[in-house]
Amino acid sequence: MSSHITVPLPSVAPTGFDAGLNEVETATQQGLHRFAREVMRPLGREIDRLTADKAYAPGSPFWQFHAEAMKAGLSGDATAGLPPDQAARLEGIVINELGWGDAGLAVSLGAGGLPALMAQASGNQELIDLTLGKLGCWCATQPDRGSDGLTLYAQERFPGSKANKGNLQATFTKDEVIFNGQSSAWVSNGPVAQVALMDIVADYGEGFHDAQGNTFGCNVIVPLDIKGVSRGKPLEKLGKRPLPQGEIFFDNVRVPRRFAIATRDDYELKHAHAWAHAGTAMSHIASGLARAAFEMALAYVHERRQGGALLADLQLTQYRLGGIGTQVEAIRAMADRVARFTKCAAQPHPYFTAAGKAFCCSNLMQVVRESLQLMGGVGLTHEFPIEKLLRDAQAMQIEDGENHLLQMHYGYLLSRLYQQEGWGRG
Ligand SMILES: Cc1cc2nc3c(=O)[nH]c(=O)nc-3n(C[C@H](O)[C@H](O)[C@H](O)COP(=O)(O)OP(=O)(O)OC[C@H]3O[C@@H](n4cnc5c(N)ncnc54)[C@H](O)[C@@H]3O)c2cc1C
Repeated sequence: MSSHITVPLPSVAPTGFDAGLNEVETATQQGLHRFAREVMRPLGREIDRLTADKAYAPGSPFWQFHAEAMKAGLSGDATAGLPPDQAARLEGIVINELGWGDAGLAVSLGAGGLPALMAQASGNQELIDLTLGKLGCWCATQPDRGSDGLTLYAQERFPGSKANKGNLQATFTKDEVIFNGQSSAWVSNGPVAQVALMDIVADYGEGFHDAQGNTFGCNVIVPLDIKGVSRGKPLEKLGKRPLPQGEIFFDNVRVPRRFAIATRDDYELKHAHAWAHAGTAMSHIASGLARAAFEMALAYVHERRQGGALLADLQLTQYRLGGIGTQVEAIRAMADRVARFTKCAAQPHPYFTAAGKAFCCSNLMQVVRESLQLMGGVGLTHEFPIEKLLRDAQAMQIEDGENHLLQMHYGYLLSRLYQQEGWGRG
């Protein structure tokens, strides 16, 4: 007589097919998941339905979120002091959960902490004190300088051209940095931020361009409550509505030169480093958001009956679930690979990170669309949060670099590696 042994179901983590999360990682995931479910989801949905003039006003759910995040200890760097590979893993777990909770609020938190993080890295105590506990923003794009700000090696790629200096520049004097112009309307936290990390073109006394036509750049910390700073109205937009966005205007705004953390010679490298880390965070947020959408569809097909059966029991549904589930895992795997390379490689590069961001976000879009499709008509209604996820996912196709353009930059990088390093020649 032979006994029949069935294959047991796999042991999966709440986040998917993760093997070997250690105790700290498991506890972190569980803690963050509680915060994402109990704080971020309800507040994010509430803000999403408010008009922009009410959504970020004092006492609004937006500020309630930031107070709760501060209470939960989410304002610092959870990975400080860890070896790079462990830091990459833990950061992925944290940001994935925040993306699962609310992708807009996750960015508000990340951009909000950027000036403090950069001040910390600079070791300048005055800047650390200036940024500590303040809501920050990253002020980089401008009305006439969107994708152009993300183009490295511009003069090699487009010989004879002059790089775009945009609508907001810094002028360095012996003791001061002076800002004039305006940001784009897309600066995350722009309407409410207390401090900015400026990431713009600069003149060090020899004009804005070098002999080849490349621009000089700078990173400077600027408090936003000083003379000459004003704001535009918070933007009304399709997706990521819990994330306030708007212009910041600079009219002869002056800060001491010691507030600069990257100048003429070290700017390019520091900019590349910061952008690579931003792209990594975007990939993790996409991964969390994709999981959120998939889970909503998974729950729905276990409630809805059509064709004489639960949708989940129909083979076509199983096939579709398998497709979305695979994409969710692929996004997660790419986000982890990007994170590991960015944190651990001897020489990381923002164009690889950018490619990862583009892959994660474009697959995210397919996951959310197909998840909504599985829910039929109700997926379109405000009653179910999946229509919000679709709008949030759409914003991520453009945020931190438009996907097609990022993929083009990656292709250029691969070609350069082939030509200059002999990479890929077998
Ligand atoms: C949700 C969100 C959050 C953001 N947060 C911030 C922030 O915190 N700080 C900040 O400074 N900015 C922020 N941005 C701005 C963001 O970085 C820009 O929107 C993005 O880089 C694209 O720039 P753009 O919108 O000006 O589009 P454009 O650069 O005008 O691009 C328009 C279209 O033209 C294409 N295109 C552009 N250049 C080329 C080219 N050379 N060849 C072929 N096609 C091209 C693009 O692919 C795109 O499809 C945010 C944007 C969003 C949506």
